[in-house]
Amino acid sequence: EEDDALPDSDALPDSDDEVELDKPRPIQIVLAHEDDHNFELDESALEKILLQEHIKDLNIVVVSVAGAFRKGKSFLLDFMLRYMYNRTSPCWIGGNNEPLTGFTWRGGCERETTGIQIWSEVFVIDKPNGTKFNCKIYLEVFMLKETVNVINKYLFHNSGVGKRSVVDPKDMSWTDKHFSLISLPLSFQQTVYNLSQNIQEDDLQHLQLFTEYGRLAMEEIYQKPFQTLMFLIRDWSYPYEHAYGLEGGRKFLEKRLQVKQNQHEELQNVRKHIHSCFSNLGCFLLPHPGLKVATNPNFDGRLNDIDEDFKNELRNLVPLLLAPENLVEKEISGSKVTCRDLVEYFKAYIKIYQG
Ligand code: GDP
Repeated sequence: EEDDALPDSDALPDSDDEVELDKPRPIQIVLAHEDDHNFELDESALEKILLQEHIKDLNIVVVSVAGAFRKGKSFLLDFMLRYMYNRTSPCWIGGNNEPLTGFTWRGGCERETTGIQIWSEVFVIDKPNGTKFNCKIYLEVFMLKETVNVINKYLFHNSGVGKRSVVDPKDMSWTDKHFSLISLPLSFQQTVYNLSQNIQEDDLQHLQLFTEYGRLAMEEIYQKPFQTLMFLIRDWSYPYEHAYGLEGGRKFLEKRLQVKQNQHEELQNVRKHIHSCFSNLGCFLLPHPGLKVATNPNFDGRLNDIDEDFKNELRNLVPLLLAPENLVEKEISGSKVTCRDLVEYFKAYIKIYQG
């Protein structure tokens, strides 16, 4: 094991072509090229991270946060990182005046890059049940373009329950391609679907679309792409109807995904489809973090500026997503996936989008 002093840690990360793993940081592995309407996988970056000698043959758990841009994904991811770096400490959440670092997050309504970022460090975790080592990559942020109505044009070509004609990604418009890229993180086993305020009918429809594309892409490679999905509702403002947290979320989701006889057929189908896609669906209701977080341009993530309710729920949410006993290794067709396999999985997936 080399453990040299950190070389030149002040160098600007984006100025190197080579991915340096000495200083943990987010790495963009899927880039969206606006000019030639294509996606590019940074294979060498991915390989450099996942094919490190000490991890490449370990099983992997991928945890991802997906959803529209500017909805607090990076903010959450940074707390997830804090947990990963201080798992054994009851104070993992950090000091009151410590600025939050990790994935870049910032206020304002401009979006940042679209695509997929991963955290460069892969955390190796001891399984609670014994000696076996188990590795996990972590944190995948997905900055999706604004929601697109054109989706409906693909969605409602109904040809019976659960069967739809889905357009080949190669024939899709650029916006639609962008949009469907979300099915990649969804195919990871532990995905947080980050939503603001409520679950709208649109969100369910989009989810259906993502899973359709995921299937389209993955059926060629694997049989059952989806595992666990957690709806995370930010700024939940009806705690008097459904309490914050997992239990309130469960009841809320149950209600939302209920199939009723008097519902329009399309609404019923969306619900049936979602149920059929995921082996495990959950929902967590998170309170608003407070006005400083949402509106103060100088907010740097310190706990002092965050509402108490939010912090309390965060203390429950993050271990729920990341405690070793809650991590399930990715399985495809019954066999566990190693870091090395994941590289191939990414390559195969991206190929489908390259027209
Ligand atoms: P991302 O684009 O989804 O990764 O969003 P960011 O994490 O960069 O956050 C965008 C803005 O929303 C920042 O100004 C955050 O301070 C703020 N923010 C973070 N979490 C929340 C939340 O739960 N509710 C609200 N209203 N704002 C949040």
